[in-house]
Amino acid sequence: MSSVNIKNVQKKFDEQVVLTRINLEVRDHEFLVLLGPSGCGKSTLLRMIAGLDNPSSGQIYIGGTDATRLPPKDRNIAMVFQNYALYPHLSVFENIAFPLRVRGEERAAIEKKVRWAAQIVEIERHLSRKPRQMSGGERQRTALARSLVREPAVFLLDEPLSNLDAKLRHTAREELRLFQERVGLTSVYVTHDQVEAMGLGQRIVVMDRGEIRQIGTPRDIYESPADTFVATFIGSPP
Ligand code: ADP
Ligand code: MG
Repeated sequence: MSSVNIKNVQKKFDEQVVLTRINLEVRDHEFLVLLGPSGCGKSTLLRMIAGLDNPSSGQIYIGGTDATRLPPKDRNIAMVFQNYALYPHLSVFENIAFPLRVRGEERAAIEKKVRWAAQIVEIERHLSRKPRQMSGGERQRTALARSLVREPAVFLLDEPLSNLDAKLRHTAREELRLFQERVGLTSVYVTHDQVEAMGLGQRIVVMDRGEIRQIGTPRDIYESPADTFVATFIGSPP
């Protein structure tokens, strides 16, 4: 079954078309990467999956139901942003627990879920720290744990590594890959970085100016780019 099914989605801002007839299926447990240059519509597409914005036309199905009119809180989807703001005055534990407290969950259940999420991202030893006592990578993982704890059906990540320096980005990418292998979440990951896409994606969706140019495994795309745009963008051999 597909977790997310995007059917003929078009998006306009005023009269400007920023996405044209997007058709895309996100399969259960896959790590799908949306790759394309800045301004091609990646974030807009992700925001519509999350319900933060609506298509101008077309449908988005989540777990088989038409989600076009479902508010974000009813979509069972977590979004990790570029600026994963943690609450500086709260401990790591409380940062992760926050979405569950908002939901009004029981103390014991919160404790259990926070420990589970912290263990997955390997920060269980730091739960009593404040964010400022953590490294950039650990703060990143705290933000991931805060999304994980809600047990979302789909995990959306919008260039989550772009604020890290090159060295940390490499480590974080590797961690994310291992994490994905271990947990097998259904994820849609946005990046404009082809190296990141090739390293992380099980399938890659190459976008340009509001259109999908190709969908395939990293190998498909590298070895058989659909057109010269894809070839140039990926850096495939001629
Ligand atoms: P990407 O994430 O691939 O860099 P975006 O989805 O952010 O691209 O933007 C796609 C296009 O839509 C850009 O031309 C951008 O300027 C435009 N855009 C995005 N959000 C809005 C908005 N709220 N109002 C008007 N135009 C927007
Ligand atoms: Mg963007």
